[in-house]
Amino acid sequence: MAQSVKGTRDLFGSELDWFQRIEDTVRRAFHRHGYSEIRTPILEEIEVFKRSVGESSDIVHKEMYDFLDKGKRHVAMRPENTAGVVRAAIQHQLLATSDPQLLYYIGPMFRYERMQAGRYRQFWQIGAESFQVSTPESEAESLVMLYDFLRELGLSQLTFSINSVGTPECRPAFHEAFRAFFRTREAEFCEDCHRRIEENPLRVLDCKNARCQAALEGHPVLVDFLDPASLEHHRRLKEILTALGLPFEENPRLVRGLDYYTRTAFEVLSTDLGAQSALLGGGRYDGLVKQLGGPQVAAFGWSIGLDRLVTLMQQLHGKAPRQAPPVLIPLGPAATLKALSLARTWWAAGLDVILETRGVKLKNALTTANRQGAPLALILGDGELEQGVVAVKDLAAGTQETWALDTVQERLADRRG
Ligand code: AMP
Repeated sequence: MAQSVKGTRDLFGSELDWFQRIEDTVRRAFHRHGYSEIRTPILEEIEVFKRSVGESSDIVHKEMYDFLDKGKRHVAMRPENTAGVVRAAIQHQLLATSDPQLLYYIGPMFRYERMQAGRYRQFWQIGAESFQVSTPESEAESLVMLYDFLRELGLSQLTFSINSVGTPECRPAFHEAFRAFFRTREAEFCEDCHRRIEENPLRVLDCKNARCQAALEGHPVLVDFLDPASLEHHRRLKEILTALGLPFEENPRLVRGLDYYTRTAFEVLSTDLGAQSALLGGGRYDGLVKQLGGPQVAAFGWSIGLDRLVTLMQQLHGKAPRQAPPVLIPLGPAATLKALSLARTWWAAGLDVILETRGVKLKNALTTANRQGAPLALILGDGELEQGVVAVKDLAAGTQETWALDTVQERLADRRG
């Protein structure tokens, strides 16, 4: 029998309940803040990712699902969504005026990753991208939205880790000082770092190798090399976060390695499950729109892995709270006809009701209702129909009462609260 492709999985049941609950919470937060959804295609021309994520990155170099389509176009299944959003914003001239464009996306991404716990080849991300906004206040607005919805999901041990990577103009002086530092202890760094120090020195700072991290002790920090405007930007962001009571710490090793990143880089750390781990990251990328062929436009964004967040919710809260609806069980053709029209009125009134349509015996119908976790079974036989009532069985308590048909809608609405 066919199985789902390695690294992909089917979502259903209580895992999907969490996906939906998180998506609903996040969507509400985005809409409260005036962000609009954007849905870009899963397939993009491969150049979109090569020119943004970068040809030398693992994502493009090793993990891309790319292929020639039947028309011999070289396409890729998106490994992330910022590049696609920027491509779409340029294509549709969303950045033609100086008005802010606040956009969000929710959708599947694809990376041909080595299999390990919590990593999938099709996974989901939620992200926000704000264009035409360059102030620390706009960053704070995005971070507040993020912080508040993570709190709404029940995460309480959150800290922002922040840094500034300055601008391309102030980086050469930093690179020079950093390379000089590197040379004083180069034997302690891994082979990859020896390559990085030539190609992209910032990447040495986030090398995962513990020996390299130890060798970095006392390294020159970017913040000391910032131009006055970037320094003021960084100071002001910290001032706002302090005033709003958003916990943060400065992390001089937090970098985003590509040239189009500017100024603020951040992660959200959580200790909700004990050991501290990074939930997500983001930052300012004022150079990307131009790099992809658009105008010079300020941009700030972040993305969070939904699969990871769902696992966290399951570990913290167990199953997503879900209330199964009552079941309406008609017995016989006349009652079924009546039940269909009653249920239709209730559905139209926004009530959740499952209609038993199989024509099975009451015992069978009740067994199914119990298995579905229904709180109530509303039983409509010919006798009830004649009297204009319904027999209501409380499936948890095992008790039964009779409700007049014309009061059912109101009672169901009351129960729902
Ligand atoms: P990145 O784009 O690598 O910075 O990752 C952004 C978010 O996506 C993080 O929260 C990751 O947990 C999540 N993520 C990245 N790759 C995968 C994957 N293969 N499976 C599940 N989640 C992923």
